[in-house]
Parts: sequence; structure tokens; C-alpha cells
Amino acid sequence: MKRREAIILKKNIQDMPLKYFILTFGCQMNMHDSEVMAGILENIGYTAAENKEQADILLINTCCVRETAENKIYGLLGRLRKLKYEKPALFIGIGGCMTQQERTAEKIKNRFPFVDLIYGTENYHNFTELLKTAQDSQKTVLQLSHQINPVIEGLPIKRASGFRAWVVVTYGCNNYCTYCIVPYVRRNERSRQPGHIISEVKDLIAHGYREITLLGQNVNSYGKDLEQPSDFAGLLTEVNKISGLDRIRFVTSHPRDFNQRLIETISSCEKICEHIHLPVQAGSNHILKRMNRGYTREHYINLVESIRRSIPGVSVTTDIMIGFPGESDQDFQDTLDLIERIRFDSAFTFVYNKRQGTPAASMEGQIPDHVKSKRIKVLVDLQNKISKEINLREVGKKHWLLVEGTSKTNNQLLSGRTRSNKTVIFPGPHYLNGKIAEVEITEGKLTHLEGKWLDNYC
Ligand code: SAM
Ligand code: SF4
Repeated sequence: MKRREAIILKKNIQDMPLKYFILTFGCQMNMHDSEVMAGILENIGYTAAENKEQADILLINTCCVRETAENKIYGLLGRLRKLKYEKPALFIGIGGCMTQQERTAEKIKNRFPFVDLIYGTENYHNFTELLKTAQDSQKTVLQLSHQINPVIEGLPIKRASGFRAWVVVTYGCNNYCTYCIVPYVRRNERSRQPGHIISEVKDLIAHGYREITLLGQNVNSYGKDLEQPSDFAGLLTEVNKISGLDRIRFVTSHPRDFNQRLIETISSCEKICEHIHLPVQAGSNHILKRMNRGYTREHYINLVESIRRSIPGVSVTTDIMIGFPGESDQDFQDTLDLIERIRFDSAFTFVYNKRQGTPAASMEGQIPDHVKSKRIKVLVDLQNKISKEINLREVGKKHWLLVEGTSKTNNQLLSGRTRSNKTVIFPGPHYLNGKIAEVEITEGKLTHLEGKWLDNYC
């Protein structure tokens, strides 16, 4: 019996809508892609399952930025073999960044022949047809698109939240940092038309959304590829004019393309939140050059100073990597020194990981694992100390939070985010969910703040 017949038979017997579950790995762009996949599936009659065991169709949205992410996915596929054996009608699809690499897609097909469909990041527009083809097939269907698709508008989206939404401004990346696989799997940068972005935001406001996060691998280069060139500052100014919207965020910013006009725009637009995520990657000019980041440590330090001068109360967070090929003890010290000088509110810290096909993978001077382990520990300890000190200084301050729901660690408490993107947990009534509530900070912890509600909300 073909997979689709088995699925339809099951639907008829149970007379219940078929269920889907999506497992997502990686960044916010991947999480948003999963919202698109969910929208497509709901459009053709599927409903969300609570877990993978209840699902009739299970999609895995993969990440390949680091080897550890890939290994997790191989481990998961190994475990799914048993689930598929117990439930042969279960449809398993795997897509996203990892499968965009042709060799990896072939490897998955050979090692895990029970997978029904392997697709890439450029297959969402024809996903329904692809799904039907795979359901009719007895073998794994592998469909990767090698051409760079233009931006596709109008795909359905089932958003995870009812009041915060991601809105893509650019797809792909042109930067080719020498360690990074993203430009190879996500392809060249393509900007959406400003009109499409504005319409999407207006539609979200009409549906009760209060906060939007503009998404791109390098939002600061938005618009360069459009026929009528536009820029990110111009886009932000237009989004800021949309009435009914409370908060605007954006990720990720690239230090090379973050200019004074953008700083002035952020400082003058009242809806743009005071938080800049500005990956620095390294504090040594020698390493920044080898990484092809296109800026120096001096440029970065001046930029942060300028941001802090113009945007009162701004928090600055970053991504930092250690163990890049050629990183000497002095280079590592330069990174520590930069962290002490900037004092980031928080940082995502990474150990350099070889990605096949990227220039850094074949560079001389690969750093031994034991050196990387030592350096990452020193780095994390230093950043934790700074984050804790900064959070302690928040005690006694008042903040307006967008309340996101119950706290992940204590379901008696609510969790919300300040404009500066700090998570605050506090006791409060559940009707505050999705509202903007005022709190006073009572405790500063390493990763979050604690507060008390001041009885105000809007
Ligand atoms: N576009 C963003 C930028 O320019 O920083 C970030 C995209 S990347 C998916 C997120 C982070 O992963 C990067 O900032 C970098 O620190 C880390 N990363 C990327 N490639 C890596 C590698 N080969 N090994 C370790 N970390 C890596
Ligand atoms: Fe990767 Fe660099 Fe592009 Fe970020 S800017 S996605 S790190 S190539």
C-alpha cells in the first residue's frame, strides 16, 4: 500500500483530521520557516499534534551551522527508525539548511531509507505537490532546488505566537565569512519589496500583533539588490509609522554595514526597541581579517560607543567565536580584552567548528580541541561575570514588558521582555499575557531578571 493510501485509510477510520508535528533546529530564520511549513500543512487540512508520537506527518527542519547541530539530527533520525517501524504510515520529511548540502542529502537517503521526503530551503512554494509525490512513492523522494528562487510572497504562515511575529526582510547572505556555511545553503541575499513587508506588518497589527522582529542574516544590507534601491534605515522609518504597532526589533546586524544614519533612525523612532545584537566574532584584527568580517576591532569599539551615546538604555549583545584557525594566545587575549572594554549585556559563545566547503576548513593553524576547551571556559566565565554585574544594576529600575506567557522554569510566574530584550519573570495574573505591563526589578540573575508587577498594563 502506498503511503498516501495508508494515511487516507487511517483518516477514514478515525474520521479525524490528520496531524503534523515540526521539529525545528537552529536560528530564528529556521523557526520562521517552520511557521511557513505549518501554514502550508494547515492550508491542506492538517492540524497541529502535541508531540511527534501523535503525528501523521513529522517534519524536521535542520541546521548545519555547526557539526554538533548536524550530529543531533543524525541521532534523532536513528531514534525515529523505531517510531517508523511501530507506525509505518507515519510520514517523515527532512528539510532546511542541512539537506541543502547535496552530499548530506544523499547520505541521509542512504543511511535512513525510511525517510519519505528530503527537501531544501527553496522548496516551500511547491511543498504541497512535493508532499503528494512523496506520499505516492515507495522510495525516498529527494528534491533540492539548485537555482536561486526569487522571493516568493503569499505563502501561508501559522505563527507560534498571537502577539509577537517574525517578518523576513532578506533571505540568504552575500558576506561569505570564511567559517560560515550559511551563504552556501541559503544562497545569495535577496530583499523583499518594502511594500510587501509593510503590508505584512499592517496585516499582523490588524490581527492583534504588538511586536515584530525584522529578520535577515544581515538586515543592515537590506535593499541593496532591489531595482529601486532602498535601505534598512528607510524601511525602519516606514515600519515605525504603522499605527497600532508597539515594538520593532531586528536581527541580525553586521558591524560593517551599521552606519550613522541607522543609529539616528533607531534613536528617533519611538517603536524601535533599545537592543542591538551585533555579532563581533573576535577581538583580534588578525582573526577578523582571516574571517573576512570586513571591519576592525577599532571600528567595532567606535560603533558601540556611538550606539550607546545616541540610544540611551540600549543593550548590546553579541556572538563570539573562539578557536578560529590561526588564533594565537595573543589573539584570544585580544578577544577577552574587547569583551572587558565593551561589556556586552550577554553573548552567544561558539567554539569554531570546521564546515566542509568553507575557506576556513582548509586554513592552516587549526586549533587543537584541548586549547579550544580551555579558551571557551575562560570566555564564558568572563562574560557570565559581566552579564551578572549588568543585571544586578537593573534592580530598582522600572520597565514595561511585553508579557510572553508563563515562565519556562516556574509555571506559577509570568515571563516578559523589556524593550532592551531582557527576560523578566514575575508573579502576576494570566490576563497579562500579550499585554504590555509595568514591573519593578527586584533581582538580577545571570540570564534573567526578577520583578514585581506595578499594577499597570496596556
Ligand atoms: N548572520 C549572523 C552574523 O553575521 O553574525 C549570524 C548567523 S550564524 C547562523 C550564527 C552564529 O553562528 C554566528 O554569529 C557565528 O558566531 C556562529 N557560527 C557560524 N559558523 C560557525 C562555525 N563554523 N563554527 C562555530 N560557530 C559558527
Ligand atoms: Fe554567516 Fe557571515 Fe552571513 Fe552571518 S554574515 S550568515 S556569519 S556569512
